[in-house]
Amino acid sequence: MSKFWSDMAKRCAPYIPGEQINRANVIKLNTNENPYGPSPKVIQAIQKESEQALNLYPSPTADKLREDIAAFHSLSKENVFVGNGSDEVLAFSFMAFFDKNKTIRYPAISYSFYPVYAKLFDIPTEEIALQDNFTIPVEAFSQSEGGVIFPNPNAPTSIYMELDAVKKILDNNPDRIVIVDEAYIDFATESAVSLIHMYENLLVIQTMSKSRSLAGLRVGFALGHPDLIEGLTRIKDSMNSYTIDRLALVGAEAAIADVDYFNETTEKIIRTREWTIVEMEKRGFTVLPSQTNFIFATHPNQDAGELYAVLKEKDILIRYFKIPAIDNHIRITIGTDEQMRVFFKTLDTIL
Ligand code: PMP
Repeated sequence: MSKFWSDMAKRCAPYIPGEQINRANVIKLNTNENPYGPSPKVIQAIQKESEQALNLYPSPTADKLREDIAAFHSLSKENVFVGNGSDEVLAFSFMAFFDKNKTIRYPAISYSFYPVYAKLFDIPTEEIALQDNFTIPVEAFSQSEGGVIFPNPNAPTSIYMELDAVKKILDNNPDRIVIVDEAYIDFATESAVSLIHMYENLLVIQTMSKSRSLAGLRVGFALGHPDLIEGLTRIKDSMNSYTIDRLALVGAEAAIADVDYFNETTEKIIRTREWTIVEMEKRGFTVLPSQTNFIFATHPNQDAGELYAVLKEKDILIRYFKIPAIDNHIRITIGTDEQMRVFFKTLDTIL
């Protein structure tokens, strides 16, 4: 450790992103990207912008994108904050809403960036174990000292929590912020966005990386009461006014506008997910009920690490987990129908 490091740098225990191997022949089912490209209108918008305006700074307030996202969700611009991927929005949220002397709660099995931010910003945490069926124990999130954060649907379990349960967590934390990380919500039943007008303590965070096929462009957003949005904006403007570049702004605007493409690709992924689950179960896997663009599975006589390694040798990338509570589980992103057929053909040579 360098003697020149600050206390903050010393505290870091960085997040390790999933493998990014982008060779053409690799079937990449490991980081929950969308197998379909973005809407052709996104490409057109980016091309036009890149020819016209890259010498100029982007809008620091991202008004047009915030208006478009607000309109999509029947909210107003003052309810919307946009950032460089939802990871950045999450980081800003930890800074804006969580304190050093108040313990926050999140599920023990959930997005592994939460403990990283908590450590970096010196926020005490209490990890709440999942129940035996991998669902989140709602009552355990009551009366938190410093606030609550959880993904819905949860990752990597893929399980969706009904809105009644989300409401219970909000009701049981009236003076604390509850952050619902909805990275995968467009593949699920219903967003908590409809609750924003009822709960000042609710912040919903979504991303354009999954259902909008824009993981490479880095756009995420938060939706909530204008006071919460102002808190996030204060943090952003104290660090970097221009977190979203011009190409990302116009690309994200075009993606939000192309509702037909969004609906078509999202529905396609859900249909592929459903037959993928059936095929996995036919092969002896137990698959948790998924409302995401990935599935979480385990096999009684297969080692998850070995499955991962053998598939990788055959140019198929998946994820596996060594954490005790979810030992021997694999996570598979839903690809195209063709990619999933190749996956099963390859899997059958292994099982
Ligand atoms: N939240 C969850 C639960 C995720 O799985 C991810 C993606 N790995 C993110 C947030 C961050 O997504 P992005 O930064 O691409 O918007």
